[in-house]
Amino acid sequence: MALELRPNCEYCDKDLPPNATEARICTFECTFCADCVEHKLHNVCPNCGGGFAPRPIRPAKEWRAGLCTTKRPPSGERVHLSYSQDEIKAFSARLSDIPPAAR
Ligand SMILES: [Zn+2]
Ligand SMILES: [Zn+2]
Repeated sequence: MALELRPNCEYCDKDLPPNATEARICTFECTFCADCVEHKLHNVCPNCGGGFAPRPIRPAKEWRAGLCTTKRPPSGERVHLSYSQDEIKAFSARLSDIPPAAR
């Protein structure tokens, strides 16, 4: 199973194409932009409570057979948050002082 490359930031809806260097993901592939992770979420995923890492970039060129964005395209399904901004703010405040490895 390949990583599902989701097309947008769940928080601000910014486009995050497969080569976006500012895409961040949690272990469940919840996807946000670096700006929202830093300033809105404080490195707390609002869906699972985990931390984030930069999303690796899938090559556009087929360097190895079948393994590129043309043959394995990103997801086209935009994802949106199911929590309110106030709820997320409270959730982040509760967890952001605990390092991800201790959550
Ligand atoms: Zn964002
Ligand atoms: Zn998550």
